[in-house]
Parts: sequence; C-alpha cells; structure tokens
Amino acid sequence: MGGVENGVTLERPRVLIVGGGFGGLYAARAFRHSAARVTVVDRENHHLFQPLLYQAATATLAPTDITAPIRWLLRRQENTEVLMAEVERIDVARRVAVADGGALTIPYDYLILAAGARHSYFGHPDWETAAPGLKSIEDAIRIRQRVLLAFERAEKAARDDERRRLLTFIIVGGGPTGVEMAGMLPTIARDTLSGDFRRIDTRRARVVLVEGGPRLLAAYPDDLSEAARRSLEALGVEVRLDTRVTHVARGVVEAGGERLEAATIIWAAGNEASPLGASLGVPLDRVGRVIVNADLSIPGHPEVFVVGDQAAMTSRGKPVPGVAPAAIQSGPVAAANVKRLIAGKPTRPFRYLDKGDLATIGRYKAVARFGRLHVSGALAWWLWLFIHIMYLAGFRNRASVLVEWGYAFFTYQRGSRLIATRDRPGAAAHGV
Ligand SMILES: Cc1cc2nc3c(=O)[nH]c(=O)nc-3n(C[C@H](O)[C@H](O)[C@H](O)COP(=O)(O)OP(=O)(O)OC[C@H]3O[C@@H](n4cnc5c(N)ncnc54)[C@H](O)[C@@H]3O)c2cc1C
Repeated sequence: MGGVENGVTLERPRVLIVGGGFGGLYAARAFRHSAARVTVVDRENHHLFQPLLYQAATATLAPTDITAPIRWLLRRQENTEVLMAEVERIDVARRVAVADGGALTIPYDYLILAAGARHSYFGHPDWETAAPGLKSIEDAIRIRQRVLLAFERAEKAARDDERRRLLTFIIVGGGPTGVEMAGMLPTIARDTLSGDFRRIDTRRARVVLVEGGPRLLAAYPDDLSEAARRSLEALGVEVRLDTRVTHVARGVVEAGGERLEAATIIWAAGNEASPLGASLGVPLDRVGRVIVNADLSIPGHPEVFVVGDQAAMTSRGKPVPGVAPAAIQSGPVAAANVKRLIAGKPTRPFRYLDKGDLATIGRYKAVARFGRLHVSGALAWWLWLFIHIMYLAGFRNRASVLVEWGYAFFTYQRGSRLIATRDRPGAAAHGV
C-alpha cells in the first residue's frame, strides 16, 4: 500500500487493470501523473476499436486500421507496464490475479476489471462453428475469409443451386452489429466486387437478416428502427422480424419454421460478460455482468472496481448501456476513485453522459439519435464518419485515417481483400 505514515515512505500502491479495451485503456491513461504503479494485462497485444469490426469483416478496412499495440499506446506512461497474459481468475481474498494457467500471479492493492463481453449462443455453444460471431480481430478475419471464399467458390461452382447457396449470407440478430453487417454485404457485392468476376453476377448475392424481436435496433426509437429496416430493404436485404432461430448447423439456419440454406452464417445475436466476473464471488446479472455499486466498486471489496461491458452499471437510477462511450467514461471514473482512496478521500458515483446512438447501413446511410434529435440517411452517415475518425484519431494519426478511409470509401478499391488460407477441399468443413 502506498502513502506516508509516521514519516516513513511506504511502497507505491499497485493498481492492476485487466483488459486493454476501451474501459481498461482509458482507466490506465487516467493514472498518467499518479504515484501508483500500474499494470495493464490483456490476453491480446492490441487494443481493438470494436465499433469498426464489421468494416474489417467485410474487407472494407484492414485489421491494422482498427487495432494498435497496447504497449505502444501506453509507451509514454512511465509508471505503467503492460503484460500480455490471459487472466483466469481473481482471488479477492489474496488480492491477486491468476493468469497463464497458474504460471503467473499478479498482486494488486487496487483492481480495475475491464475484460468486456463476448457473443453468446443462448445455451447452444455448438452453433459457433457454423455461425461465427464478431468480437475480436480474429473473428473479423475469419468472417472476411468466409465471405470472400464464398464468392471465389461460387465463381467455380458447377451447379446453379450450389452457386445460390454460396451466394447466400444469413445474419442472425438485428442489433447494431447485425444491421451494419447486413448493410455492408450487399454494398460490397454490388459495388466492390462486381466487375471482378466473370461467371457470377455478385450483385445477385442474397442477404437475409433474421431478428427474433418485432423490430431492428431494439434499443433505438421506433422511427429509427423503421428507417433502418427501409434502408436495408432498399439495398435488397431480406429482413425477417419476429423470427426466432431454433437451430443452426453448418450451412443451415432453422428459423420461424423455415429452413434457410447459406454457405455463410454470421452470429450477431447475444452477448455475455467475460467469465472472469464470476470469480469475484459477488452477484452477477442475467448476462454475467458484475452488479457494481454506484462508485463502480463491488460489494464488500472497496478496492475492486468493474467497468465497461463487464459491469452492470446504473447512473441516476437508470441502467447504463453496453456501448463504447459507457466504457470510455467508466474506466476513468474507477481510476479517479482509486486515486481518491489512495489519498484517503471518499469515492464518487459514476454519472453516465448519454451521447446517443449511431448505426450505419451500407455506404452513405445511417441512423442516429442524439437526445431527442433523430437523424437518418446521408446526414447521419456523415456524422458517423466524423465521430469515428475523431475517436480513431485518439490512437492513430488522424490524417492517415482520413486518407485510407477516403481511398477505401470513394474509390471502391479494396486493399484488404486478402484470403490468407489455401483453397483446399477440406475448408468446406469450416462452413463455406
Ligand atoms: C462488432 C461490434 C460493434 C460495436 N459497435 C459499437 C458502436 O457502433 N458504438 C458503440 O458505442 N459501441 C459499439 N460496440 C460496443 C463497444 O465496442 C463495447 O461496448 C466496448 O468495446 C466495451 O469496452 P470494454 O473495455 O468494456 O471491453 P472490450 O473493448 O471488449 O475490451 C476488453 C478487453 O479485455 C481483454 N480480455 C478479455 N478477457 C481477458 C482475460 N481473461 N485476460 C486478459 N485480457 C482479457 C480483451 O482482449 C479486450 O482487450 C460494438 C461492439 C462490437 C463487438
């Protein structure tokens, strides 16, 4: 523990941050001028800008455009070290994080847990092989591979029914990720790839978006959900609402009593928090998020804080959504509370500032809500572009992001259309 007691300088307090995503990274940055010794642990070596994952999954941006090494992002912060390790559990009694199969034990005085969430398959983990979800950069690369391979295979398919199956893409889940993926697939099929193939007409690709609820973008106001549906249908996407998926197997989705065949199935339906929260021994909500106190600490352990997607947070009595701004805001609040505890001061509650919601639909269309203001169409898309460049610029060079995006969006050229696998017959076993 740090500080000065009876004229004796004690060791500087150790702060452990698990996760280098939005919550963890912004928490770490808040310790820049503090006396604490900070350790950031992440199982990946990179910070990932998740809101643009679908752009990488549809070969619009390269994986390197939306990632940056965590070590590099924190290189100027001398009191901070970065470890690449997989944390398996937290031992709150001993105040240690156990990582790498028990080979690594990291002690802490204060802990900020920000390990995020992953997609969930409603109790059917076996569906994952047939329908990968989109959460990590590996997921995006895997989906990009499947999408591009489907077109390649269709070009050499001998039969019409096989070609049709290869050119059918099913997306399960009509939240922001599903809507954005569904909007981008016809866009690449029509604009990006058309003209590159000789035997198939890529514009005939069929995209089906399956949603169990009565509308798309359930967290958005009704008019924007409706605008999103209309925009997707204008792009040729078949939107199936009130259609629950009952079974997924390789190349097949059973939904609403119908059997749909597609070479590419993408899962964008459910989320569950990192299992690390369970090791804290405190109450979790239905999707495994740690139910935190108003100051983001956990019951019975004022030295442990949980932020971002891993936390069930409330602000002024209302639940806080699992979005990037919530993680970006909660990380620094937890850090500030740690600093207040070190200084012997009381902690403060988290107050979430709702900045609105934004989702794109293909190229040049989006829906946005800023407080009571609802915007859809091209204006919303330009707002989306501006906001994302501003955020990305937080860890990349603003000019280079602008140039790369400008090139990708306006010329329809794709520098990221790499298929890094051999087109071997066995690859069919992986879904295409
Ligand atoms: C495809 C997609 C699109 C999205 N679009 C939007 C959008 O448009 N707008 C918006 O506001 N939000 C969007 N979100 C949500 C937003 O990205 C999240 O709310 C945000 O990333 C949460 O930040 P976080 O720090 O809590 O978790 P994450 O960003 O998920 O970071 C968690 C970190 O913890 C690390 N980690 C996990 N487990 C361990 C472990 N056991 N040991 C070590 N490290 C570990 C991970 O590697 C990761 O780096 C989107 C999410 C996805 C997946």
